[in-house]
Amino acid sequence: MAEASTAGGADCAFCGTPIVCTTTLVEVDGSYYCCPNCELAARQPATARRVRRGGGLVLTCTHCGTPIIFSEIMVSTGGRTYCCANCAEVAGRRAAAATAAAR
Ligand SMILES: [Zn+2]
Ligand SMILES: [Zn+2]
Ligand SMILES: [Zn+2]
Repeated sequence: MAEASTAGGADCAFCGTPIVCTTTLVEVDGSYYCCPNCELAARQPATARRVRRGGGLVLTCTHCGTPIIFSEIMVSTGGRTYCCANCAEVAGRRAAAATAAAR
């Protein structure tokens, strides 16, 4: 059941980010979420909205915009903040691909 490899090729059911890093993966009823932040936002949209309106007290993911409620799994790199290592990894890969394509 807990086999991380079963999520290979899945996208986050909330933010749609391809799941390439399963460190923070959450599975609920056969749906995969990149991290508990997305899982909470999907399950409790009212909470997520309230948090989001909270005057900038809570950060949102630079990549997917999910409110970062579980800050212990947040990743900050290069002045950007991501809800999880998965979003940071995907954003990093896209940046690298764009750089490679620009050559
Ligand atoms: Zn997500
Ligand atoms: Zn995430
Ligand atoms: Zn994200």
